[in-house]
Amino acid sequence: MRADLVIEGRAYVDGRLIEAAIAIDDGVIASVSSPALAPSADERLVLGPGQIMLPGMVDMHVHLRDFNQAYKEDWYTGTLAALRGGVTLVADMPNNDPPVNSLARLREKLEIAGSRALVDFALYCGAPMDPGEISEIRKIACGFKIYPEDYSRLPSLLDQLEESLVVIHPEDPETIMLERSRIISPRIEDHGRIRPKLAEIRAVDRVLEIAGSRRLRLHFTHLTTGDSILRVISSKLRGGGISCDATLHHALLSSDAVKVLGGIAKVNPPLRSREDSEAVLSAMRSGLVDAITSDHAPHLLEEKLRDDYDEVPPGFPGLEIYLPIILTEVLEGRVPLRVLDLYSRKPAEILGARKGSLTPGMDGDVVVVELGRKRVISPSDFASKAKYTPFEGWKIKAEVRMVFLRGTLALRDGESCVRMGFGRHVAGS
Ligand SMILES: [Zn+2]
Repeated sequence: MRADLVIEGRAYVDGRLIEAAIAIDDGVIASVSSPALAPSADERLVLGPGQIMLPGMVDMHVHLRDFNQAYKEDWYTGTLAALRGGVTLVADMPNNDPPVNSLARLREKLEIAGSRALVDFALYCGAPMDPGEISEIRKIACGFKIYPEDYSRLPSLLDQLEESLVVIHPEDPETIMLERSRIISPRIEDHGRIRPKLAEIRAVDRVLEIAGSRRLRLHFTHLTTGDSILRVISSKLRGGGISCDATLHHALLSSDAVKVLGGIAKVNPPLRSREDSEAVLSAMRSGLVDAITSDHAPHLLEEKLRDDYDEVPPGFPGLEIYLPIILTEVLEGRVPLRVLDLYSRKPAEILGARKGSLTPGMDGDVVVVELGRKRVISPSDFASKAKYTPFEGWKIKAEVRMVFLRGTLALRDGESCVRMGFGRHVAGS
C-alpha cells in the first residue's frame, strides 16, 4: 500500500496519546500504526517537539449567520474561525434572518454555505412550516432544532420528526415571560433572574414527558445545571435515545462574569452560579454529558455594548478558542484528556458523520497542536467578525498550527490554505 500522506508523532488515539503514524489516502484515514509499520507515502510529515496530533474537532452547535446578518458573521469568516480552532465539522443552527424552516430556505443556505465554507458542515432545519416537506428536508438537514417558541406545537412536531435528530433549546417560555414581567426596567445583571434555571428544568421535564415512548433521537443542548443533566441521564438509563451537551462558558464561567463584563457576557441560557458551573464541569469530566458545544453566536461588539437590556443580543463567538481552552484545562489537570472526545468523536456519532477520531475509515481530518507556549486570548485577532469574548485575557497553553481536512492542508499558522467552498456538506441522516 502507498498512501498520499503520512503524519508521524504523538497522536490522540483511543483516549490516549501514543507515538503513531497516521496514513491518509484519498482523503480518508487508511491506517493508524506504529511509525515503523507506516506505509510509504508521497508526502511525509514528522511532528516537531511539543506538537501532538488530534482528530478534527466537531462542533454540533454553531451560528454562522450570513443571509441578512452577514455583518455579524458569514460562512467564510465563521469557518475560518472554525479552522483556527481545529474544528473540521460544524453543524449550523437555523434561527437565521430569514429563518431556515422550509425546504426552499434550506436549499438557499446549502448554496451559500457550499460556496463559502472552508470546513465541512451540516445544517439543521427549524420546526418545519409545512410538514409535507419533512421527508425532503431530511435528505439535506442533519436534524431539526426546536426553540421555546415552538413548544406549543411540540406533540405534533415530535410525531412528525420520529427517528430524526431533534435538538431542543430547553428554556420554558412561560416561566421567562412571568419573570420578565416582574422587572420593569431590567439591567444586564437581572438576566439570570429573568431566565432562571427553573425555566430550564421545567422545559426538560415538559419535553421528556411529551416525548413519552416515541422513537426519537432527542438532544438537549447547552444544559447549565446539574438538575437538568441528571434528568437527561435518568431518562437515558430508562432506554430513551437521548443525549445532551454543555458549553465551556457554562462550565468555566459564572454569573460573576456578567458583573464585570456586562452585555459581553449576556447569553441564553444565562451564566449561572459557581455551584452550577462546577456541576457542569464535573459532568464533562465524567462524561455524563455527550458533547461540548461552543454555541458560537457572533454579534458586533457595538451591539453587545448597548445600554438597554433588551437591545443587547445574547451570545458570543467560541469556535477559535474552544480547543485551546480544553487543552489548557487538560494541561492544568482540571479535566482528563478524554474530554477531547466530547468535542470530536461523540458529536460526530450523534450527527452520524465519519469524523472525529483517528481511526481507519474516518475522514483524514488531523489537527496539529503545539503545547506549552503561553498565549493570551485577544479577541481583536479573531477571524470571526465578533471581536469580543468573555474569555478575553485568559492564558492558554495550546495553539493550533496545522489543520488537515480530508487529507488536504487546510490551515497553516492561522492562514487558510484552501479556497472558499472547499468545505463539503455532510448530508442528513
Ligand atoms: Zn445557539
